[in-house]
Amino acid sequence: MPRGNRRRVALQLFNTLSGKIEPLFASDGHALRFYCCGPTVYDYGHIGNFRTFLHVDVLRRAARLSGLALHHVMNITDVDDKIIRNAAAAGQSIGEYSARFERAFFEDMDALGIERPEEIARATQNIPAMASLIERLAAEGMAYKTEEGSWYFRINRFPGYGKLSKKDLAGMEDGARVDLDEYDKDAARDFALWKAARPEEIASQAAWDTALGPGRPGWHIECSAMAMKYLGDSIDLHAGGEDLMFPHHENEIAQSEAASHKPFARHWFHVRFLLVEGRKMAKSEGNFFTLRDLLLKGYRASAIRFLLLSVPYRHQINFTLDGLTESTNAVERLRTFNGRIRNQTWPDESPAKNSLLELIRKGDAGFTAALEDDLNTSEARAAVFDVLRAVNTAADQGNLSRLAAEQTLALLDKFDSIFAVLEDRDAEHTRAALAWAEAENRLSQVAPEVLERFGAGSLTDAEIDALVAERTRAKQQRNFARADAIRKELLEKGILLEDSRQGVRWKRT
Ligand code: AMP
Ligand code: ZN
Repeated sequence: MPRGNRRRVALQLFNTLSGKIEPLFASDGHALRFYCCGPTVYDYGHIGNFRTFLHVDVLRRAARLSGLALHHVMNITDVDDKIIRNAAAAGQSIGEYSARFERAFFEDMDALGIERPEEIARATQNIPAMASLIERLAAEGMAYKTEEGSWYFRINRFPGYGKLSKKDLAGMEDGARVDLDEYDKDAARDFALWKAARPEEIASQAAWDTALGPGRPGWHIECSAMAMKYLGDSIDLHAGGEDLMFPHHENEIAQSEAASHKPFARHWFHVRFLLVEGRKMAKSEGNFFTLRDLLLKGYRASAIRFLLLSVPYRHQINFTLDGLTESTNAVERLRTFNGRIRNQTWPDESPAKNSLLELIRKGDAGFTAALEDDLNTSEARAAVFDVLRAVNTAADQGNLSRLAAEQTLALLDKFDSIFAVLEDRDAEHTRAALAWAEAENRLSQVAPEVLERFGAGSLTDAEIDALVAERTRAKQQRNFARADAIRKELLEKGILLEDSRQGVRWKRT
């Protein structure tokens, strides 16, 4: 529990390490020192990967709403077996190869509205920190070098091994291979800290000369070394997907605590899987969608974000395209409602003013309480949707006052500081995905309606608005030929105009 000048916050979060729901706080009284395992940039991420980063994003946003400042570090694993293999196949250095997928990763993060952490730490730029942590472990008698030049962690000298995943070390017999590895070691469960360089790794610049001998870091040491370098020996919070709990996070704890003799991370946050037909979405299962796949099928980035956040992080979510369609409709309703309340003027008084204000206040309290209760995103969303339904009905019946409208908008803004779907940038993201598909020769993957609406020759919303305005001017000047020509041009591109007393409205068919 926080003491003294440590700031108390109301956000309660399940801690995998203690098995309990506990308050989240910054132990230095300033900022939450927070590390999240980032992607291995060997290919495009799938939306299962992004489910984890999306819930980490909600955690960031909710922590900020609770008054916490953040110092969030995320690593990029830009050296590993798959990167080395794929880079060699492409005739590139690992740097050239991984840069492309790192760029794609951040494009996808941006399209999904995921905030950037305060710091991005690339493995290849932090090799000295990793080598010196391994040297510290060697000095403690916790690391040893094998004949061919690799270094391993001696698990049986770390008594706390298994405390996060609650695995019984005695049950993990020697000879049981818990960590796939190709090198010699003393005990089967010992894991690699440093992998001796092979000739092809030197060729693809995937080896570093250090006091440990030429080689490259193991995956686990990367995260320990970078978390400690950027955030200190003891950090407030560590996050990742549920599959990382064992062995990755268990190994991080062992490495860090064996070197520093201090508790590594106080709070552990694990996001459960995104499933497809009951199975984990994974590259190896072949049951995955990337964000780009879905955008090119015509689904919107905002709907994907909203769907993946609809189930709280401690429950698995089953992904379906029907679910995505429902989510598209929910975002659409939200945006329509937001536009309606924001753009109209509402009377100062209404008969139902006080009861509506009370309902909005309750919705606001329910939203905050749900988030603070272990980030219950589904209840938080339901609390706000209840308010929106009541306000919409009041507006239909002429019962919405200006004050109630203002307070509804304040609640919507708070909602959107977490869910971030109100601003419509969907067309921009789909257009970017289409440009990518063109550049990568993947146009056969694009749904015809996406090509028609966003492909070459299609019109942006702003271009349509400009043509509609030009048509109105032409009509005012009695230039009916031009006005008709514009209507015809728009119709050919699937845009229907409706003349009404309020002016001209258009919609895509
Ligand atoms: P990777 O790039 O494979 O290391 O994965 C990046 C992140 O995505 C890790 O935190 C994984 O735990 C997480 N992850 C991988 N597959 C899934 C899935 N199906 N659902 C949720 N998170 C996942
Ligand atoms: Zn990690």
